[in-house]
Amino acid sequence: MASGTHTARITFHGGAGSVTGANFLFETGTQKLLIDCGLIQSNDFCDAINWSDFPYNPADIDVLFVTHGHTDHIGRIPRLVAQGFRGRIYSTPPTKDIARLMLEDALRVMKDELAKRENPRQPLYTESDIESALAIWDTFEYHEKISLNDASAQFLDAGHILGSAMIELIRGDKTIVFTGDLGNDHIAIARKTEEITDVNYLVMESVYGDRNHEGSEVRRQMLRNAIDFTREHKGVLLVPAFSLERTQVLLYEINELIAAGMQPIPVFLDAPLAIRLMDVYQKYPEYLNDEVRERIAHDDPFSFKGLTLTPSMEDSRAIYDAPNPKVIIAGSGMSHGGRIRGHEKQFLGDKKTTILFPGYQSVGSLGRRLAEGATKVNIDGEWVHVHARTAQLHGYSAHKDRDGLIAFVELTAKTLERVFVVMGEPRSALFLTQRLRDFLDVDAIAPDAGESFTLAW
Ligand SMILES: [Zn+2]
Repeated sequence: MASGTHTARITFHGGAGSVTGANFLFETGTQKLLIDCGLIQSNDFCDAINWSDFPYNPADIDVLFVTHGHTDHIGRIPRLVAQGFRGRIYSTPPTKDIARLMLEDALRVMKDELAKRENPRQPLYTESDIESALAIWDTFEYHEKISLNDASAQFLDAGHILGSAMIELIRGDKTIVFTGDLGNDHIAIARKTEEITDVNYLVMESVYGDRNHEGSEVRRQMLRNAIDFTREHKGVLLVPAFSLERTQVLLYEINELIAAGMQPIPVFLDAPLAIRLMDVYQKYPEYLNDEVRERIAHDDPFSFKGLTLTPSMEDSRAIYDAPNPKVIIAGSGMSHGGRIRGHEKQFLGDKKTTILFPGYQSVGSLGRRLAEGATKVNIDGEWVHVHARTAQLHGYSAHKDRDGLIAFVELTAKTLERVFVVMGEPRSALFLTQRLRDFLDVDAIAPDAGESFTLAW
């Protein structure tokens, strides 16, 4: 075929009309490519729908591209392999290291959660499925050329979390970019999102498509206020934080606050996964921004006076009796599981407790119910009355906000033939879609789950 007469087909199998479960099929005519294979998470850490068969035959897929290591982008990969996928998996090196830790941890959480059910089912995958996935997983640096039959690809820095990438696919004179999640350029430790130009098709996230974040000074002050309140009232500050990136950012910020003169306070990092992930951050300093890289060369920017790591269950339980005031940072980020639930049961009934949500809480999650002011919640079958104060911070989000997303698209608006707005709640995706049309005059659409489109690519 002459250049310009190719077509490709894109199908939005997951992450359309929802934030989680990213899974896009891109059929070039000569190859079948998948972009991400994430876990669908709403009411539960792992919703029942994840056990359904894939809507395509995994054995037919040639390459799975992985944008980054968050569970909602990688969580079904071992299952894909168990169900017959025999192609290759491509990501950056940190993403592969992160994926191992995240998939192992997710399996532990799943086993715990499933064991509590009356009719427990098998976990979504086994340890050996994780190993099988890692055995067919190749890594590429940003901008390293990846050959694909009649096309090529490269990873670009998405600036979202350690190792996060956009995927750019080029055939002839046509380019499509899958953004994965796009970073908040004002976050403390990541690098800035690379600028993209001359792109014809864009598949982009929209978690914060309808909102802006508070600025970096405001969010740091809000964190400081929550810590000061806790110290003054001899209370507890609970921070349900994602173990990947959010926790490292919070530790970095508390370190900065102390360096700027804040009186230290006992802080417990009660998140085994976050503690394990610290090694990956130390291993790949070149993937962090210049300031943090500089700091790592001299001391540990994620550690400070008053910080205690509690990897074992025994250490974790001892936190209950540790004297107030205290700050407890624990997973999981949306209170789906993990040690935060034990602390919530223990401390939410006390009006001297503050629960601070440093990021997005998915619809149906315990975190979302608490953030929306629920006065009574059920945690693992136990009713808990909530007297704690709640505070929500969006500035620590690792996602671009509404204005950041629009500025990102604007750089390539002239060449865009279509933008597919995905990975957001419907309200957010539709808001961003309308803004892109109105402000940038681009053809934007928020596809429905399962919808397919043919592209001149
Ligand atoms: Zn992400």
